[in-house]
Amino acid sequence: MPELIFPLDSNKRFTDQAKIGHNRWHPEIPPVAWVKPGDSFRVHCREWFDGAIHNDDSAEDIRDAPLTTVHALSGPFAVEGAEPGDLLVVDILDVGPIPQEDSGPLAGQGWGYTGIFPTKNGGGFLTEQFPDAYKAIWDFSGQTATSRHIPAVSFTGIVHPGLIGTAPSAALLSKWNARESALRATDPLRVPPLALPPEPRDAVLGSVPPSEFDRIAAEAARTAPPRENGGNQDIKNLTKGSRVFYPVFVSGANLSVGDLHFSQGDGEITFCGAIEMGGFLDLRVEVIKEGMQTYGVGENAIFMPGRTSPQYSEWLAFSGVSVTLDGEQRYLDSHLAYQRACLHAIDYLTAFGYRPEQAYLLLGAAPIEGRLSGVVDIPNSCATVYLPTAIFDFDVRPGASGPVRVPQGTSAPHAGFD
Ligand code: ZN
Repeated sequence: MPELIFPLDSNKRFTDQAKIGHNRWHPEIPPVAWVKPGDSFRVHCREWFDGAIHNDDSAEDIRDAPLTTVHALSGPFAVEGAEPGDLLVVDILDVGPIPQEDSGPLAGQGWGYTGIFPTKNGGGFLTEQFPDAYKAIWDFSGQTATSRHIPAVSFTGIVHPGLIGTAPSAALLSKWNARESALRATDPLRVPPLALPPEPRDAVLGSVPPSEFDRIAAEAARTAPPRENGGNQDIKNLTKGSRVFYPVFVSGANLSVGDLHFSQGDGEITFCGAIEMGGFLDLRVEVIKEGMQTYGVGENAIFMPGRTSPQYSEWLAFSGVSVTLDGEQRYLDSHLAYQRACLHAIDYLTAFGYRPEQAYLLLGAAPIEGRLSGVVDIPNSCATVYLPTAIFDFDVRPGASGPVRVPQGTSAPHAGFD
């Protein structure tokens, strides 16, 4: 086993650990450990909400989830010799749930969760149709996930970090803050917001000294969006065996990681659509000197996905085009087209007895494929969502005898606002 350089005690909160991680991006968050090119090392990760979501049959914890506390990130890990302009090569050697034998209270100890976030607390891809909070708990058996809240499905997880990236430079950070606040200013009262400004409340900044804390907390970027440094890209294929090439913006590169997922569908559509968990990662790093310019990698990371995807070969796919539910034509709006494809799949699954929220949770969590199938045929873009037929315990294909009805167990827990 590679040396464990960032241990976490499952019985302690993120801020009570021996080594403290962070939940904002800022170039001045000091490295928590140094590694050398060629080193392999193990890192533990808290689940992104640091234990706020529980293995129970209530969605009140999702409704009231403390969004200012996310993401609980492990790091930063500095790499000797890495300088701005280099490429940091990160090999994901292994990744999995918390390595403990009995199941405990934390997501990752034999179970994980998917949430539909309410419009008033985060929202999601289909928040107009699903304004309230829902939750599904998933149980892990080896590589397989099942849920007491979504009957008659089981699937193989593609374990991956939802969030991994390098620290921004001061110049890049101010660019982020400027462009995101300009967007926010176009509709400052929107719910959910157009972008999340820096938020000092609940900021965790590793070993930043108290004298600098308030200034850095007021400048540091939130971790929700993916950006030039990688970050919260939620790419389900960044699994074991992947190699990622990150731009380096600060001396040491300052790599951080967190938000582990047992599984996720393309788009992570419910906002917390993956199966969230804590766990471990084994990483190896190398540096390509001046690689950003050599390979033209300035805009964002590039990567080679791992070779351990689940073996699904048959799919039932749904398409959508860029026309709103009210019948309004939009011009090549692929976001809308993917929403329509997902709503199409949700409608279809309700014919088998699923409630719409169960189908929505499933599309977020299962290894579905999402594609931009057509983006040039004016005025409609076409997006498609592919469901692996083998994840269902029954025949999900259309047929002359009509849909079977799945037995309803517990429905997905729900919580609205009074
Ligand atoms: Zn996540």
